[in-house]
This record gives sequence, structure tokens and C-alpha cells, in this order.
Amino acid sequence: DLEGRVAVITGSTSGIGLGIAQALAAAGASIVINGLGDFDEIEMTRHKLASEHQVEVSYDGANLIERRGAERLVENTIATHGKLDILVNNAGIQHVSPIEYFPPEKWDAILALNLSAAFHTTRVAFGAMKEAGWGRIINVASAHGLVASPFKSAYVAAKHGVVGLTKTVALEGARHGVTCNAICPGYVWTPLVENQIEDTAKARGISREEVIENVLLAAQPSRKFATVEELGALAVFLSSDAGKSITGIALPVDGGWVAQ
Ligand code: NAD
Repeated sequence: DLEGRVAVITGSTSGIGLGIAQALAAAGASIVINGLGDFDEIEMTRHKLASEHQVEVSYDGANLIERRGAERLVENTIATHGKLDILVNNAGIQHVSPIEYFPPEKWDAILALNLSAAFHTTRVAFGAMKEAGWGRIINVASAHGLVASPFKSAYVAAKHGVVGLTKTVALEGARHGVTCNAICPGYVWTPLVENQIEDTAKARGISREEVIENVLLAAQPSRKFATVEELGALAVFLSSDAGKSITGIALPVDGGWVAQ
């Protein structure tokens, strides 16, 4: 039961972040959603979350690729709610390309959003959590935080970085009731995955169907996509009192991918 808790979920206008926001709201937390997209659509999502779960839901459109955006998202939440209990660093982007053609500006953007934004939000949130003697930081890393695939150099580097950041923050929070964990999904059917199918097909010289069957699902022994609901349930568990001794882990949710 997360009643009375305040949660920020970055990149929660879509996909996994939205699934986690929904689950935390259902558990009773007040929610700050964040992410890009059409304002009217986001407003509908916000309204639906609030009325379905009878919790406070606000939207902050901070662009987390910029350091000030990440800082401000946390500062504004603390200013509005007086605290921040649960920080979910989820916003992320992908680019698929052989390294010799990998656009350097894509590298910079992926490192900025997928890794540095989590550092900046955590850096600003950590003091308040420590002072409160309670905090939960959940970083949505990836199976690619633990193992690599070709053509995803920036993403794999950033996600390995997130796992390292997670362990460090866990150690710093251990005596203060602040846990920090990474969730490492395999493939989850979201716009992020949809958008990489074409580039993967091009990089590997195969068809769209072959990408789904022979690249995406082939990585997962379960041969099934994980769902945003499963990830939401996990975030609720890690945020609950039952999760208080779990810290510094990178937990795969990948149908057996990294066990191979
Ligand atoms: P998605 O594209 O559906 O959602 C990404 C979210 O991030 C959106 O809300 C988007 O608006 C937001 N975002 C993008 N740029 C932003 C910016 N500059 N500032 C603020 N927000 C921004 O993707 P998803 O699949 O739900 O991915 C969410 C996270 O899960 C990412 O970190 C991704 O790497 C990770 N992940 C996804 C999968 C998968 O299979 N889908 C697997 C492993 C890890």
C-alpha cells in the first residue's frame, strides 16, 4: 500500500513508464508523470489515471535530455508535494546502427537521456530521501545493462552505466532507508521496440517478420514479450515495505535471456 507516497516516473507518457505509473497509482501513490508527446493526449492520460485510481496525478513536461530539465523535475515535485518518496528513472531512447556509421549526436543524446538524466534526478532527490529516512529509486535499465547485442553501442553502454550507478547509489543509501535497484527488461512491446524494427531489419539485411521472430523473440527463451503490467507490479513490490532489504540489484525480467 503506497498511500501517502509521492512518485515521479520519468518517460511515463508511453510504454513501460506509463505501465509503472498506472501500477503505482493503483497502489495509492500520488503520481507525477513526465515525457514528451501531444499535450491533449497526455492530459487525457493524466485525467484517466487520476479518476480511475482516485489519486493526485500531475504532469511535468521537463525535457530530460537537458541537465536543467532533470534537476527541475525533481525540484518542482519537492516544492509542490513537500517530498519525493519514489523516483523511477525510466525515460529512454534507442538507436540501432553499426558502430562505424553510428551518428555521434545519437550517442550523445542516448547517454544524456538514458544515463545522465538518472544521475541528475537522483543527485537532486537523494538528500531529501536521506533526510526523510525513506526512499525508493528504481532505474529501468535493460537486459542490455547486463549483456550486449550488436548495433546498439550507445544504448548498451548507457544501460551498463545505469547498472553501475544503481549499485553505487544503493551503497550510499543503505544506512538511510533509501534503496536503489535496476529493473532489466528483455523485450517489451512498446513504441520504442516498434520503432527499432525497421533499422534492425536494415542493419541485419532481413525482413520485419524475421526481426520479430529471429532477433527479438529469439533472445528470450520464453519466446514471449514481457508486459508493462509485469514491470508495474515489480515497481510496486520494490516500493513496498517488503522491498526494504532489496537494494543494489539488477533484476532481469526477460524470459530467461541473460541466463543463457
Ligand atoms: P517508449 O518510447 O514507449 O517510452 C519512452 C518514454 O520516454 C516516453 O514517455 C517518451 O515521451 C519519454 N521521453 C523520450 N525522450 C524524452 C526526453 N528528452 N525527456 C523526457 N522524456 C522523454 O519506450 P519504452 O519501451 O517504454 O522504454 C522505457 C524504458 O524502458 C527505456 O529506458 C528503455 O530503454 C527501457 N527498456 C525498454 C525495453 C523494451 O523492450 N521496450 C526493454 C528494456 C528496457
